[in-house]
Amino acid sequence: AHLDRIAKVDEKVHAFLHVDTEGALAKAAEVDAKRARGEQLGPLAGVPLALKDVFTTKGVPTTCGSKMLQGWVPPYDATVTRRLREADVVILGKTNMDEFAMGSSTENSAYGVTHNPWDLSRIPGGSGGGSSASLAAFEAPLAIGTDTGGSIRQPASVTGTVGVKPTYGGVSRYGLVAFSSSLDQGGPCARTVLDAALLHAAIAGHDPMDSTSIDLPVPDVVGAAKLADVKGMRIGVVKQFDGDGYQDGVRQRFHESVDLLRELGATIVEVDCPSFDYALPAYYLIAPSECSSNLARFDAMRYGLRVGDDGVNGVEEVTSLSREAGFGPEVKRRIMLGTYALSSGYYDAYYGSAQQVRTLIMRDFDRAFADVDVLVSPTTPTTAFKIGERADDPMAMYLADLCTIPSNMAGNAGMSIPVGLAPEDGLPVGLQIIAPAMADDRLYRVGSAVE
Ligand code: GLN
Repeated sequence: AHLDRIAKVDEKVHAFLHVDTEGALAKAAEVDAKRARGEQLGPLAGVPLALKDVFTTKGVPTTCGSKMLQGWVPPYDATVTRRLREADVVILGKTNMDEFAMGSSTENSAYGVTHNPWDLSRIPGGSGGGSSASLAAFEAPLAIGTDTGGSIRQPASVTGTVGVKPTYGGVSRYGLVAFSSSLDQGGPCARTVLDAALLHAAIAGHDPMDSTSIDLPVPDVVGAAKLADVKGMRIGVVKQFDGDGYQDGVRQRFHESVDLLRELGATIVEVDCPSFDYALPAYYLIAPSECSSNLARFDAMRYGLRVGDDGVNGVEEVTSLSREAGFGPEVKRRIMLGTYALSSGYYDAYYGSAQQVRTLIMRDFDRAFADVDVLVSPTTPTTAFKIGERADDPMAMYLADLCTIPSNMAGNAGMSIPVGLAPEDGLPVGLQIIAPAMADDRLYRVGSAVE
């Protein structure tokens, strides 16, 4: 049924870069056969899922939305992919994304933009716009995204779906093509909080293949989602994310959600996190710095695209011509920014200062979480903007992640849930919930209470 739905609507939505019809049907048949034999089935047996094209999939193309990896078929599965297979999930295919996960609209994909199912002239968010759009278009009931600065939560917000960035280290990064290694985190996307929790439980947990993976038990996210109760909780409203610059309808729905939390028995307090004002500029030094280093591996020798290999050009020319042809403008912008920020003489002023800001942000969170159980804010300042509207203005594009970036900087957990439509444009608004590291269960407890 989901493959039929994809065949029917994906021409318009373009959530998928690759639909693995054969693989999906084979997995479904395998699940049926197991069931017929009375064998033990995985926890998500037979449930279809859309996988962001940044996770490696053995035998299935993985492009990261880049020409650089066009035609690359990985010889191995990411740990997330492997766990999905072990849970007996049916992977429908790979979803569209901004190139190497850099962007907030999927307009940076080398393979065309994804359209927001609520209004096809609008962006579905990014970088994981394909994953969230596939949920909103009912092409898949579950999806996987990655969140470096907001790429799970912001697409969830603008498509009226649920998206969770787990605690950094909570879900393995092995086989997740790196953008900014200290910030990247894979996580679940779904249409309900409980669905997200079931998927979270299936992919989370320690992985010896990822040196930053946390070796602690996974918080009981499913139990928390079923609890759906905020009585007695203390919830902080981040002052820095509740002022000017937010669309009226976004503020209105946000304040209604806060009122609802109060009615449900939570105590609401205002929380001051002054360093959050510097999170965005610090992120745009740290993320490009790590990106410039991570993307150095695309040298045209080991993977993907190779241009100018004519027997006349040397290795350096081939690498340089291939990178020129393979990377899009946003990726090039980040590589140049990062290389500059890391160069000797500038390192302390840029990268060093950004790391200090990162510490201040962590301290703001520590202070806040000494007093409250979770923090809340709008997920993103506006509803889905029009395709093309911010394409030529990187600064305007970067603002989409204003509220989500601090959690990546601190490595804690964040969720976006839909809280109704903005009256002025009829488009979905998201509520962001933030919990301390390894307290991901609190997201689900609060999210399912508000849902
Ligand atoms: N939009 C942000 C960026 O462009 C975040 C991307 C992400 O989370 N992958 O870097």
